[in-house]
Amino acid sequence: MIHFLDVLFLNKSAMRNPILNSLYASLDSLDGVGKKNQGIFVKLVGGSHVFDLLFHVPDEWINRTNIVSVANAIPGEVATMYTTVTRHTVPSRKGLPYRLVTRDDSGQITLVYFNFNRYSLEKEFPIGTEVIVSGKVDEYQNSLQMVHPDHMMTKSKSENFPWVEPKYRLTAGLHNWKVHKTVKIALDTVPENFPEWINKELVSEKGWPSFKEALTNLHVPDQYDLKKFKLARMRLAYDEVLARAVISARSRKKRREAKRSSIPASPDKIQSLLETLPFKPTNAQSKAFQEISNDMNQGIPMRRLLQGDVGSGKTLVGAMASVQCVANGLQVAFMAPTEVLARQQYDTLGKLLSPLGYNVGVLTGRNQGKTREGTLVGLAEGSIQVIVGTHALFQTKVVFRNLGLIIIDELQRFGAENRNSLAKKADEPHILIMSATPIPRTLEMAEYGDADSSIIDEKPIGRLPIVTRALPDSRMERIVTAINRAVSKGNRVYWICPRVEDDTSGAVARQKDLENILRMPIGLVHGRMKAIDKDESLEKFRLGEVKILVATTVVEVGVDVPEATIMIIEGAENFGLAQLHQLRGRVGRGSAESYCLLMYSDPLTEIARKRLDTLRRTEDGFKLAEADLQLRGPGDTLGVKQSGMVGYKLVELPKHKPLFRLARDEARTIVSQWSDEETPKQENIKMLLSLLSPTRQK
Ligand code: ADP
Ligand code: MG
Repeated sequence: MIHFLDVLFLNKSAMRNPILNSLYASLDSLDGVGKKNQGIFVKLVGGSHVFDLLFHVPDEWINRTNIVSVANAIPGEVATMYTTVTRHTVPSRKGLPYRLVTRDDSGQITLVYFNFNRYSLEKEFPIGTEVIVSGKVDEYQNSLQMVHPDHMMTKSKSENFPWVEPKYRLTAGLHNWKVHKTVKIALDTVPENFPEWINKELVSEKGWPSFKEALTNLHVPDQYDLKKFKLARMRLAYDEVLARAVISARSRKKRREAKRSSIPASPDKIQSLLETLPFKPTNAQSKAFQEISNDMNQGIPMRRLLQGDVGSGKTLVGAMASVQCVANGLQVAFMAPTEVLARQQYDTLGKLLSPLGYNVGVLTGRNQGKTREGTLVGLAEGSIQVIVGTHALFQTKVVFRNLGLIIIDELQRFGAENRNSLAKKADEPHILIMSATPIPRTLEMAEYGDADSSIIDEKPIGRLPIVTRALPDSRMERIVTAINRAVSKGNRVYWICPRVEDDTSGAVARQKDLENILRMPIGLVHGRMKAIDKDESLEKFRLGEVKILVATTVVEVGVDVPEATIMIIEGAENFGLAQLHQLRGRVGRGSAESYCLLMYSDPLTEIARKRLDTLRRTEDGFKLAEADLQLRGPGDTLGVKQSGMVGYKLVELPKHKPLFRLARDEARTIVSQWSDEETPKQENIKMLLSLLSPTRQK
């Protein structure tokens, strides 16, 4: 069955409503762009259509609406004045400026030009001309002047005066006035009677302007009205969010209509698994598994996000889901983001599942030759029921006999394409994504609008809070002494450095230092080591052969050594909140009291201080992730440094957060009511999608 959006995407131009033609016109068709400037405009706005230029909206405006008399102009500020030209002073020699003296009833101000065309100044502004002039006022030798006014026009021809002037993001070779002028030309080509695709009640409830009004309010505002700017941007951001939400809702609907055979629950086998454990699953674990189990039994391919704070026990839930699959003759692929974690999960799952007679395999870049061949054969024949691996699982050579479930651990390391390429190895497999960095609802909806979500909001009982302290690095010596004592009492310590190599904050140097001072073997792992050496270091630490492990953030995600109780983070101000929380989560995994010391160099920036404070005060990963979003924008939460929202042009967080839920609800309604008859409402939604869907041709 071809879905309505597929039709739209397959045959863009045929489906396009003619009202969109002006927006789809090529940028070089605009006056003043042409072939010559097209390249630079495309570079600036990230697309080649008029529409892309219009979505290059300003986020700052210069207010020129306050008209003052000359006597009231304040040096250092932007002023707009009506004056009359009283004198032209032509420079007597090269290097001196041209001066145009003007005045009003209250006083005199001189306009100063270093770059000038004498004849055009004389011709355009002869003595006696009334002008409007705007720019920054200076005081020079006790009189007022304005060097190169931003704008000057004769009063009689000032209908285009930029009372409120947008400031655009620019690129080398394009001036603000040029962008502004071109945008104005572009905006004039947009039809007045543009259709409304957003639910009309919502538009009026929010007081949003129409699509064209919103663009006009931002690009050619007639008032300096911050509230109006905000509403206009919010409306356009909603357009973006809604377009994505409709696509998500549609893929959700499509998935829910796809058939695959149900995988019934297998309570006996689950019981056998649980009987081997020294503990009971928490209620939250049981509930999450129940949700997964129901999904798999629906005959609809599952897409579920399993979110649980570090140490909440996601692996067990994954193992239970695996049992349900294998008990029904299906295979499970378990994806880990790194070699080290794949090996660790292989260990863990092996221990959990072998007692049930299941064969667990591992496949990473390191498996070569005979073992690799054996594993590939095992997967193709079905003798390996559960495979744990890294990216190596994506390779085309990897063929499954009957893959039923894909579990992806620590998702932020995988892109959507990777997820999809694994999904292609089976016919509509179930997919469970496990996230150790709790994803704020907002981002979850933005990134995984299509998925359902389970949350493990409870830690296994008996866990003590992790005592967290922040200390300046001037206390280093005392910290080392304290550690020495702790180690002699049997504790194990992680020591995290922000860099691999650096005299002051590098892991390599720190390891040597500590070895010299403490006179004991100190472990080392960092990202530039060979995988095999990394594993060996971690293994020695796990077994307790070394008590202190100096590391970079390679241990951030998922490494599980329950005996470790002390986490020292050097240069803590260099890390994001989510990352610090992940690091801290490496301790407090057993029943002993654990500590986390955040070392920093003074002076701390305001934001770094807030971050460390927040971390000291809370251990709730979900709250921290929200706080992180407030403090640094969404990029850091997902491990990407970026202040805007990835893939969106106008959405800003946390400002636009509420839009996501609104859009999801509206989109689900739109999709559920979609009919084969072409209603005007549907026509409008199609227009929105053709403009703002991420797959639109740029
Ligand atoms: P994460 O959610 O961070 O992946 P893990 O699955 O690695 O957490 O579990 C962390 C630790 O907690 C492991 O050592 C695991 O054996 C243990 N664990 C898991 N579930 C429970 C439970 N219900 N009670 C006690 N310990 C548990
Ligand atoms: Mg884990």
